[in-house]
Amino acid sequence: MAGHSEEIARDPCGMVRRWALSPLLASMLLALDGWACGVFSSKGIRWPGLFIVSGYRAQPVVSAFQPALPAAIKSRHRRLPSLAADLRVGHVKATQTPIEVWTFLGLHWERQGGRWGGNFRKPDPNHFDIDPLLVGEGLELPPLILEGP
Ligand SMILES: [Zn+2]
Repeated sequence: MAGHSEEIARDPCGMVRRWALSPLLASMLLALDGWACGVFSSKGIRWPGLFIVSGYRAQPVVSAFQPALPAAIKSRHRRLPSLAADLRVGHVKATQTPIEVWTFLGLHWERQGGRWGGNFRKPDPNHFDIDPLLVGEGLELPPLILEGP
């Protein structure tokens, strides 16, 4: 999907299929876009819309914000369906959007229960994901713990 993008609000159902997203992740992305649109509009600013630039990945991909680092192997992009999406605001590259805008989006995402890449140890501000526990995928506990005393 490199070099490809899609506006989140245009066809959310088709987006789930084309980017192999978790439906919960997709609905949270749509809500994030709608929330940002409302906040910007209330201040008289046109919201350019959120675009998805990466969903499920068959192979690890290097972050646009951390090009010198190796790609994450244990990424939530590699779950199927994907629990992670990389975004863009409007038609500019993610790295050209002011960090204040990413922080505004990211903190709201976290208030909704998501995990924002801007707070990673190696910040990745256009990365938004959700925890496996949110979609009913339990932790892989050792049999000893599951069996109990
Ligand atoms: Zn990502």
